[in-house]
Amino acid sequence: MNDQIKGKVIVVTGASSGLGAAAARHLSSAGATLVLGARRQNRISELADELKGNGGTASAVPTDVTDQDQVKQLVKAAVDQFGRIDVMLNNAGLMQQSPLEALKIDEWDNMIDVNIKGVLYGIAAALPFMQEQKSGHIINVSSVAGHKVTPAGAVYCATKHAVRAISEGLRSEVKAYNLRTTVISPGAVDTELPTHITHEDSHEGINEYYHQVAIPADSFARAVAFAIEQPEEVDINEILYRPTKQE
Ligand code: NDP
Repeated sequence: MNDQIKGKVIVVTGASSGLGAAAARHLSSAGATLVLGARRQNRISELADELKGNGGTASAVPTDVTDQDQVKQLVKAAVDQFGRIDVMLNNAGLMQQSPLEALKIDEWDNMIDVNIKGVLYGIAAALPFMQEQKSGHIINVSSVAGHKVTPAGAVYCATKHAVRAISEGLRSEVKAYNLRTTVISPGAVDTELPTHITHEDSHEGINEYYHQVAIPADSFARAVAFAIEQPEEVDINEILYRPTKQE
């Protein structure tokens, strides 16, 4: 790890568990300032305290990424408290697998709201500050599910394909502002992600699969750090990785 991460102000959505929390810990230990967003305030406050207890700088801002104003406030809090935003990690996400014929339309809406609109709101909140600074890095989280479509995964996969499309669109548009854009697409990682599946067969199948192949969340934290720690003129556009055992 080099000094590129040290002192950067990094906003993380979905920082209350799994990949977001792992990335926050890793980046904090490398000297970044972390601004943590998620709905579960107790979780992000405890994490901020943990990072500060270890000598880091962090704050927690309760945020629902489906609410555009709350995402704006999250980024504004980073700029108000720490003077700038260097990295926006749009990580919050929801996976509710089910076959389309189960017609879990509320869950389709939830995934579209969190996984697509949440990422767009994160971009909308960070971009004006980054344009002004003429520097910044937006990192969006897609998935192996953004590269293929699986049975019972149509809507989740669609949202993760959308994240890749949005990221590529953003990348091609922000050259004038010296902004970097990265999309990270993990395979199965051991987090709370599968716990939100309500369709019984899908829940069982995914749990069994994750039990067999899932890898720890520090894999994601290292991928995020790799993208950030490159020299400013190097823009890592996509990282696709998965457990060695995953097909
Ligand atoms: P977790 O369920 O452990 O974490 C999801 C995070 O998203 C939580 O912090 C949760 O916080 C947050 N979140 C969910 N809904 C909202 C919302 N409306 N507003 C704000 N935050 C929200 O799963 P992961 O850590 O695995 O997921 C992180 C990302 O990684 C997701 O985008 C996921 O799709 C992606 N991913 C995960 C993989 C895996 O195998 N684990 C593989 C590929 C991609 P809270 O509930 O407190 O709001």
